[in-house]
Amino acid sequence: MIEVASLTKHYGSRTAVSDLTFTVRPGRVTGFLGPNGAGKSTTMRMILGLDRPTRGTATVTGRRCADFADPLREVGALLDAGAIHGGRTARNHLLQLAQSNRLTAARVDEVLGLVGLAAAANHRVKGFSLGMRQRLGIAAALLGDPPVLILDEPVNGLDPEGIHWIRHLLRDLAEEGRTVLVSSHLMSEMALSADHLIVIGKGRLLADMPMAAFVDRY
Ligand code: ADP
Ligand code: ADP
Repeated sequence: MIEVASLTKHYGSRTAVSDLTFTVRPGRVTGFLGPNGAGKSTTMRMILGLDRPTRGTATVTGRRCADFADPLREVGALLDAGAIHGGRTARNHLLQLAQSNRLTAARVDEVLGLVGLAAAANHRVKGFSLGMRQRLGIAAALLGDPPVLILDEPVNGLDPEGIHWIRHLLRDLAEEGRTVLVSSHLMSEMALSADHLIVIGKGRLLADMPMAAFVDRY
């Protein structure tokens, strides 16, 4: 479960996130929808403890992410996959993350298989397409087998086959009882993958309802 209360972020005089309150429940895919610049990434970064709220709180499983001793086992995150830097191979990128979190090399190979990168495991990330970087970022998020997943625009750069794959992956993760928060600026994408929808615009909450209710109303 993710709980956000009165979450607010100002950058100088600009308000990126304004008084957001919502809960993300386990066992379903929650879509986080809003146009570019709406404040989705900033909200996710604050939930993950990577950005400091100006006001308000965000907790994952009742605690602040900054307090987790083993963050990768508590919450997996995909943020800005395009920025994953590239000198290392995909396998080494994940091995480094695994080692600093006391996870095994066997688990690295397992997640590489899960995201369809087994054949590219020993290729350097710098040659990867955005779609492959998304898969690698998802592998990193899954590495610690966390109960909570926060994925920022995971579908960007994926081809139709990749988009189909990710929809199934999100569904499976939710059916396993995990909490899954996934952002997109495309309603068409949300309609196909989310059970519940949280919509923001200009940093403010616009809607928080089951997908079926949203589709009925709008
Ligand atoms: P989204 O993820 O929905 O596209 P963001 O959270 O990235 O939106 O951005 C929300 C707003 O906050 C935008 O106006 C953006 O320009 C601004 N913003 C985000 N990060 C920073 C930052 N580090 N410094 C200043 N403004 C920022
Ligand atoms: P460094 O590479 O400098 O050691 P980190 O250990 O913070 O940096 O992170 C390494 C990589 O792991 C980065 O690509 C980062 O985005 C990613 N990462 C950090 N935290 C998480 C998380 N909770 N889930 C998935 N990936 C993460």
